[in-house]
Amino acid sequence: MTNFHDLIEGFHNFKEAHLERDREFFDALKHGQNPRTLVIACCDSRVDPAILMGCRPGDLFVVRNVAALVPAEDQSAAPDAVMAAVEYGVKHLAVEHIIVMGHSNCGGIHGLLNPVEVKNESYIRGWLCLAHPVLDELAHTDIPEDDHHGRSRHCEEAAILLSIENLLSYGWLHDRVEAGTLKLHALYYDMHDGNLCVWDAEKEDFVPSAAIVGKA
Ligand SMILES: [Zn+2]
Repeated sequence: MTNFHDLIEGFHNFKEAHLERDREFFDALKHGQNPRTLVIACCDSRVDPAILMGCRPGDLFVVRNVAALVPAEDQSAAPDAVMAAVEYGVKHLAVEHIIVMGHSNCGGIHGLLNPVEVKNESYIRGWLCLAHPVLDELAHTDIPEDDHHGRSRHCEEAAILLSIENLLSYGWLHDRVEAGTLKLHALYYDMHDGNLCVWDAEKEDFVPSAAIVGKA
């Protein structure tokens, strides 16, 4: 799909194939949403979480931003679009899971690593400041300066973990995690090899999700 007309036609195809064929399902959605999962993902057009995870309307409550970043409580702006969505998802929808989904080839992380390329984009530079701890951490690794893929991958993964850490800085969210009513998950979509990787706290690494499919 490349132009506006295609998108409108796409809706009519969707209406014919889904809205009109599964009226019971879509009628139920008219009465409200009850998603069990909130996803924080990147704006990147290639990483739509609903498409990648095979979801239907009503399955996911989604907030997307450049590089899937979350401000810590002492960094959140007023108004803050990310935290308004998280607050609604957690307090009103009572989601049981929050997924932070980062990805390979992330333009936001590329901008973080190459600030000269976004020197004229003040909003992007300002937003990426949230990920500066990732750069500080990168400086303490032994990843060579010329290993661009390794540096990107490290920062893409670290930014996901930073967002998880920042989510936990909100007491009302932390309390739900402590109580076991809310679980946080870190996902990394690797478009190089088509893998969705899940953070494994024991291994302290992102592991291909095929390894956990079938487990409870
Ligand atoms: Zn991205």
